[in-house]
Amino acid sequence: MRTLCGMADSFIYLVSRMGVTGATGTLNIELPALIQRVKGLSGNIPVAVGFGISTREHFLSVTSIADGAVIGSQVINILSDAPPGGAAQAAEDYCSLITQRKVHRDESMSEISGATEKNVAVPTGDAEAAVTNGPGRFGTFGGQYAPEALTTCLAELEAGFQQALDDPTFWEEYRSYYPYMGRPSSLHQASRLTEHVGGANIWLKREDLNHTGSHKINNALGQILVARRLGKTEIIAETGAGQHGVATATVCAKFGMKCTIYMGAEDVRRQALNVFRIRLLGATVVPVDSGSRTLRDAVNEAFRAWIVRLDTTHYIIGSAIGPHPFPTMVRTFQSVIGNETKAQMHELGKSPDAVVACVGGGSNSVGMFYPFSNDLSVQLVGVEAAGDGLDTERHSATLTGGSVGVLHGVRTYVLQDQHGQISETHSVSAGLDYPGVGPELAHWKESKRATFLSATDVQAFEGFRLLSQLEGIIPALETSHAVWGAIEIAKKLGPGKDIVLCLSGRGDKDVQTVADELPRIGPQIGWDLRF
Ligand SMILES: *Cc1c(COP(=O)(O)O)cnc(C)c1O
Repeated sequence: MRTLCGMADSFIYLVSRMGVTGATGTLNIELPALIQRVKGLSGNIPVAVGFGISTREHFLSVTSIADGAVIGSQVINILSDAPPGGAAQAAEDYCSLITQRKVHRDESMSEISGATEKNVAVPTGDAEAAVTNGPGRFGTFGGQYAPEALTTCLAELEAGFQQALDDPTFWEEYRSYYPYMGRPSSLHQASRLTEHVGGANIWLKREDLNHTGSHKINNALGQILVARRLGKTEIIAETGAGQHGVATATVCAKFGMKCTIYMGAEDVRRQALNVFRIRLLGATVVPVDSGSRTLRDAVNEAFRAWIVRLDTTHYIIGSAIGPHPFPTMVRTFQSVIGNETKAQMHELGKSPDAVVACVGGGSNSVGMFYPFSNDLSVQLVGVEAAGDGLDTERHSATLTGGSVGVLHGVRTYVLQDQHGQISETHSVSAGLDYPGVGPELAHWKESKRATFLSATDVQAFEGFRLLSQLEGIIPALETSHAVWGAIEIAKKLGPGKDIVLCLSGRGDKDVQTVADELPRIGPQIGWDLRF
C-alpha cells in the first residue's frame, strides 16, 4: 500500500474488498478508517472507492466520505439486461438516476471528445494527427500504453539506448562480437530455386547461419550490451518456440548474467528440446499457466515479473513489439540484416527489386526492410501465417486479417473479436503464432510502403520442401512462409529482376513438427515420406 500510494499522481482507485456497504445497505464501518490510511500514505491524493456500488443510496453514502465512487459491474448488468439496440440509452438513464444529472446531447458530446461535433462520429483528422507526434510513433501506430509503474524504467531504457546509439564505442563493442555471432551473414543466389520458378533471381540472406540458428541473436546481443551499460545484472525474456529464449540464454552465458525465460506451459510441452537447450545454457525456464498458455501469456508474465524487479533487471523483448522504445530498439539491432544485404548486393553491382521476409512480431522483416524504406525502387514484401486459411479462425495473419487495437503496450494491428478481446491464433510455425505485430509494419501497411501476403500451413510446407530439395537448406517453418512468398513475387516480377529472401532461421528445431504434420499436410502437396 505504501509503494502504490507513493507512485500515484492523479487519483487512487480503492477497491474495497470487504464491500462498500453492509447487509442493511449502510456504509461499511471500516471504510472511513481505510480511506484515511490511504490518504495519509499518499499525501492526500483523491480517493475513489468502488466494489459493489449499485444504487443512488450507495453512491451518496460513499461520496460523503470519498472523493469519488466507481461503478463497474452494475453498468455491465444494465448493458446486458438492455433490449437490443437500447444499451446506450439504458446506461445513460442509469447514470442519470445515480447522479441526478441530465445529459444535454450537444454539450456532452463535445465534452467527452473535446472535439467539434463534426469529427465526433469519425475521429480522424486532428484527433489522429495529435497522436502521431509522441515518442516512438510510426504514423498513428506505436507509442507507450504502459502501466504507470513501468514508465520510469522505460524512460531510463530510452535514454540509455539513445546514448548507446550516439556512442561509436558502443557500436565498436557490438561489432567486436561479430565473430561470435557469425556475422556478416552470407548472401548468395538460390540458383536451382530460381531456375525452378522461372522468374526473378532469388537471393538468400543467410540469417540461419548465425550462432543459435536465427536472426534472434542480433537483437539479444544488442540489448544485453545496453542492459550492461544501465548497470543491470539480471535478464528476463519471453519465448514462444524457444528461439529467442535460446538466443537470450546464450548471451547471458556469454556475459555472466542471471537469466529467466518465461514460456507458455503449452509451448514448454511442445518445444521440450529448446527448453532443455535453455537450461543447458544455465538459464531458468518458468512455465506460464495463464490464458492460452502460449507466447502472448509469456509476454504478459514477463512484463509482470519485470515491474517488481526494475532496478536490477532488463527485459529483452524478442520481437519488434511492446511499448516504446522496444520496437525502435529491436529494429535498430535487426537492421544489420538489411544494411549488410544492401552492401552485399551493391558489391555485385545490383540493387534488389524486392526484399521478402516472414512476419511474426516483425523483427526480421523490419530489420530487412528499414534500410531500404526510403528507396522506393525496392518493394518490401512481408509474409504472414495464414494457418488453416484466412477464411477460418485458425490463423495468425495480423496485418492481413486484423484491426487496429492495443496489445502489450503498443497501438498496432491485432487479432481481436468485436469486443476487443484478443483472439486465439494458430500457425504450424510457433514463431509466427502471435496476435500482434510491430507498429512500424502497421504504418507501412497503412501508407502502402510495404505489402503483406499470407501463406497457409500447406503453402509453407511447399516452401519448406522446395528450399530443402533444390538448395540443400532446411529452413525454419517460419522462414518457409517467406520462401513461398518469394516464389510468388519472383513469378510476378519475371526474369532479370532480383529478389532477396531473408532466411530468418534454420529448420533443425522443426524437423519433429514436420514429421508429425506430414501425414496431414503431405497428401495436399503430394509429399509422402512413409517407407
Ligand atoms: C522468431 C522467428 C521468426 C518470427 O519473428 P519475427 O520477429 O517476425 O522475425 C521468424 N523466423 C524465425 C527463424 C524465428 O526464430
